[in-house]
Amino acid sequence: MHGVDVNACGTMPLNHVYPNEAAGGRLFVDLAALAANFRLIAGRVAPARAAAVVKADAYGLGAAAVVPALYKAGCRDFFVAHLSEAQVLTPQLPSDATIYVLNGIMPGGEEGCANGGVVPVINSVEQATAWRAVAEGRQRPLAAVLQVDSGMSRLGVSAEDAARLAQDQAFRRYIPLVMVMSHLACAETQRHAANARQRSTFEALANLFPGVPRSLANSGAAFLPAEFHGEVVRIGIALYGGAPTDSQANPMRPVVRLEARVIQVRSIPAGTSVGYGFTFTADRQSRIATVAVGYADGWLRSSSNRGSAWFSGVRLPILGRVSMDCMTVDVTRVPDGALNAGDWVELIGPSQSIDDVAADAGTIAYEVLVRLGDRFHRVHLSSQD
Ligand SMILES: *Cc1c(COP(=O)(O)O)cnc(C)c1O
Repeated sequence: MHGVDVNACGTMPLNHVYPNEAAGGRLFVDLAALAANFRLIAGRVAPARAAAVVKADAYGLGAAAVVPALYKAGCRDFFVAHLSEAQVLTPQLPSDATIYVLNGIMPGGEEGCANGGVVPVINSVEQATAWRAVAEGRQRPLAAVLQVDSGMSRLGVSAEDAARLAQDQAFRRYIPLVMVMSHLACAETQRHAANARQRSTFEALANLFPGVPRSLANSGAAFLPAEFHGEVVRIGIALYGGAPTDSQANPMRPVVRLEARVIQVRSIPAGTSVGYGFTFTADRQSRIATVAVGYADGWLRSSSNRGSAWFSGVRLPILGRVSMDCMTVDVTRVPDGALNAGDWVELIGPSQSIDDVAADAGTIAYEVLVRLGDRFHRVHLSSQD
């Protein structure tokens, strides 16, 4: 059974908990589904270890609740993008958990990283040199992950620099590598030829560091053959219910439900225009509802005249432009009197997934999630265990 449990994260304060009546939208995050998704992936990639990617406030879902739930599900490795994100998480995690910073250390951030016991991902020779200098200064080894560029040209050292670092005795002595990693550009497309190419480039570079655990896979690559998994897989979107691949039915449980409150319902005659710019004009007598979620809440403006809300299984097309704080939907097909001011319509849920919403807005589920605003009444649901 699922129940509302605002204490799901122990002593951690839950941000953004407003009374329902005060908010234009309410966002439910199902922590039991999140934990089930973690266990599904962990079982799938075993004996490789599943690590959780919790950057950007756990893809917008609230790291303060998501991270303890994942820890409870058995996760011990957490990846964020910035040191600032790691600093927020460190006091919330027991000492047997490790936090890694994907972007590595910015100049000047080395001491803070070392003091917090955070493990940086070294992406460049500059980062390697700066991290080694801190270790030398303290006369003690400081762990790191080394990222190598296997073809994406985004982060990670080149093949030449990887070879040089492998031979650099001082670097190897002061910087014990806990992982060598890279990232795939096309992992969600299982048949993409780039996956095998990147894997063989990665393996050649990882061979320079014998015995160091390897990590190449994200959510998409967790569904590629085991050769892609190495010792650690880094799972983001699949934990949060997004489709990990573009070719298979989504095996993950949905984690997010988002509902918007109806402000008012009105009837308009044929020929009436709706919203900014009059980009929609009714061709028939219509009933429309204005709902209290807009682009300031992360409901993307690009879903104007394209996206939908849902009510009792009825699709409610968005009419005209999405405004900052509200938008207008067509409720003509809902029986008269069934939908009224104060009712809630579904924006994300059983009727439309985060991937559906993303498709309507011309983006990806990742962006839909990370943009979810901080004005919602947020509820974290967990199983009563
Ligand atoms: C964000 C990120 C991930 C997680 O990717 P998903 O597709 O969300 O699973 C893994 N590795 C790196 C380097 C990332 O930046």
